[in-house]
Amino acid sequence: MYRRKILVTGGAGFIGSHLCERLLAEGADVLCVDNFFTGQKANVAHLLSNPNFEIQRHDVTFPLYVEVDEIYNLACPASPVHYQHDPVQTTKTSVHGAINMLGLAKRVGARIFQASTSEVYGDPSVHPQPEEYWGNVNPIGFRSCYDEGKRCAETLFFDYHRQHGTKIKVARIFNTYGPNMHPNDGRVVSNFIVQALKGDNITIYGDGLQTRSFCYVDDLIDGMVRMMDSADNVTGPINIGNPGEFTMIQLAETVLKLTGSKSKLVRMPLPEDDPRQRQPDITRARNILKWEPKVQLEDGLKETIAYFRTIVG
Ligand code: NAD
Ligand code: UDP
Ligand code: UDP
Repeated sequence: MYRRKILVTGGAGFIGSHLCERLLAEGADVLCVDNFFTGQKANVAHLLSNPNFEIQRHDVTFPLYVEVDEIYNLACPASPVHYQHDPVQTTKTSVHGAINMLGLAKRVGARIFQASTSEVYGDPSVHPQPEEYWGNVNPIGFRSCYDEGKRCAETLFFDYHRQHGTKIKVARIFNTYGPNMHPNDGRVVSNFIVQALKGDNITIYGDGLQTRSFCYVDDLIDGMVRMMDSADNVTGPINIGNPGEFTMIQLAETVLKLTGSKSKLVRMPLPEDDPRQRQPDITRARNILKWEPKVQLEDGLKETIAYFRTIVG
């Protein structure tokens, strides 16, 4: 039997580690490429004994010459705290990383999936967000290195497709959570759970009435794999996320209930350009990929809390 050779960039990160596991389970030969900026070897340590798994330390802003059938391009820090730590490197990772991986895809004729983001919609003035919406993005703010980097990556994907016939799959991923998130990642779900388990204050930024829609990682992976396996004319962009929309206060209260924690909610300043609301319109994913999320927030949070209990003392 022929084993598909699949490259996963950012494979040691939160989403990448789940993807590597899923692709190996499907019988693929998986090459995980990561520079370990935010990813951790511990996320993929359990895969190292699998003879079909290989890991390579490499920064995607530099060229990479390998022979593969499919590429999932996930390399990029995703948490605002981390992507703002070295914003120039963040833009380079999205833009030079996309150019290199597209150059690779072009040379070997591989299909290539791009982990784009709901951040391309910025602080949206259309709600919920359909793929046709062009977004409301500040080009010079603290979030721009990520948002504009990802927007430029989308441009490159579509130009490689039009100019060179590269087989592209662009997914716009909305907030995703689950096991393997880094405990110091700074994103809201991991922050609240770690704070609740330690009995620390729960940090609500701003009034806590801003909304996000949270997708459990297993649902996301299912959508990503379906998109990669879709017909060649399915290029995207396609939103992948869970339309269930919650305020940060509702999220905090749910985490307190599920952990049984007595932590108090405290207010902190709202970061600059923090989007007010976010909810995916997933009509395209439903119609084209026959995909929709299945895991309810409370069920996904229970799994995530169980994971963090094993790593928070
Ligand atoms: P993560 O930070 O856990 O994973 C990113 C991985 O990329 C890490 O392992 C990191 O070390 C690696 N990386 C960063 N820069 C690199 C470089 N220059 N070369 C090689 N590797 C590099 O984040 P995640 O949540 O798993 O996100 C994965 C992808 O999905 C990212 O592209 C992110 O933008 C996208 N995404 C995530 C979410 C979400 O809610 N988690 C939402 C939208 C989009
Ligand atoms: N590239 C790569 N691996 C490959 C093929 C190309 O990393 O297998 C890089 C290459 O270094 C180049 C980029 O991808 O900088 C874009 O390649 P492309 O062929 O599109 O452009 P060109 O080489 O003509 O600039
Ligand atoms: N947030 C919060 N407390 C935290 C971390 C984040 O209230 O400890 C808020 C943040 O201001 C934002 C939302 O939660 O409105 C989601 O933040 P996250 O960094 O997870 O992702 P993004 O803003 O990129 O969607």
